[in-house]
Amino acid sequence: MLISVERLTELVETTLRQGTGNADGAAKVARHLVEANLMGHDSHGVGVSPLYMESVKAGELHPDANAEVVQEKGPFLQVDGNQGFGQVVARQAMEMAIEKAKQSHIAVLSLRNCFHIGRIGAWGTMAAEAGFISIHYVNVLSPNSLVAPFGGREPRFTTNPYCTAIPATDRHPMFLLDMATSTIAQGKTRVAYNKGVEVPENSLIDHEGNPTNDPAVMFEEPKGALRTMGQHKGFGMALICDILGGSLSGGGAYLPDRVVESRVVNNMLAILIDPNVFGGADEFFGDIDNYTDWVKSSPPAPGVDAVMFPGEPERKSRADREANGIPVDDNTWEQLLASARDVGITEDEIERIISA
Ligand code: NAD
Repeated sequence: MLISVERLTELVETTLRQGTGNADGAAKVARHLVEANLMGHDSHGVGVSPLYMESVKAGELHPDANAEVVQEKGPFLQVDGNQGFGQVVARQAMEMAIEKAKQSHIAVLSLRNCFHIGRIGAWGTMAAEAGFISIHYVNVLSPNSLVAPFGGREPRFTTNPYCTAIPATDRHPMFLLDMATSTIAQGKTRVAYNKGVEVPENSLIDHEGNPTNDPAVMFEEPKGALRTMGQHKGFGMALICDILGGSLSGGGAYLPDRVVESRVVNNMLAILIDPNVFGGADEFFGDIDNYTDWVKSSPPAPGVDAVMFPGEPERKSRADREANGIPVDDNTWEQLLASARDVGITEDEIERIISA
């Protein structure tokens, strides 16, 4: 089915508000999740909100928690998310980092102990819209490891995302590379599993280490694992995310004994850089413009319309989904409705929200 941004946001926001009593947090989380759907990243969209509500009930997600500064040293900032909604505490931490970067031309934010912070591109975008280059290394702690190390057949860590955002120039939109270091995000295997379709080649291995395209290996025994993107190179990036996002912040790299308390904890290193630190922003952005034109002038390969820059597929998706609505698969829709009923929203109220 296709549902409008407004209807979907209201359904998720009402559920979260009713389930947590935190109206401001519910609004921020719902907006972030629907935005992920708009960008085409259904894996990080509204489909995760039932899991958030289960985590609130289990006491793993503290819906009223705020980001708290642990230490500040010059441009360095260590912040604890207190297991709050990632969409709330990461926003608060990024606001602090942006203020620091305005004073010092650079900010290094070491953020730990947040519940799922969602689409990392949202945090890169915040910094880039404030005028900063922003580099993010994120690790994920969850009860089950998901991604096999290169050469291994059992998972040892998770989908550790990486992001770099660079402000828009006069001629080109923001550069936004935002990606899991696994071949695909775990949420994409959930979306494929819910839809009953296969995942792309080389994304998964089964429990014996053989390649498979069946997403069931991530949800049914015997379990398989995701692969790192780019073979050994993505493996290296994934390790860096655990070490810089996890070990450095104090949140910790993925180790089995520290992941039992909560379903999804994110830790993040974010480095914000003022592109005008040496007064050369005009040259910097001019160079990006020329470089972008040059790279994109490569004639498209067969079956491809045009070379795209990172962030472009998401902008296209956004334009399409804003105009035509957001597709929600049947399983996800049922889970959203069940979550709404579970917090006491009546059938009449659900009907009013979705058909308004
Ligand atoms: P993806 O593979 O769809 O895209 C990765 C990047 O490649 C994007 O920057 C995109 O713009 C770019 N891209 C895609 N197709 C392109 C093309 N044809 N030409 C040029 N560039 C192209 O994304 P993903 O790896 O599946 O990640 C999805 C989302 O999951 C991200 O937003 C990520 O932050 C999020 N994530 C979050 C967590 C977490 O724990 N919070 C964990 C993993 C992933």
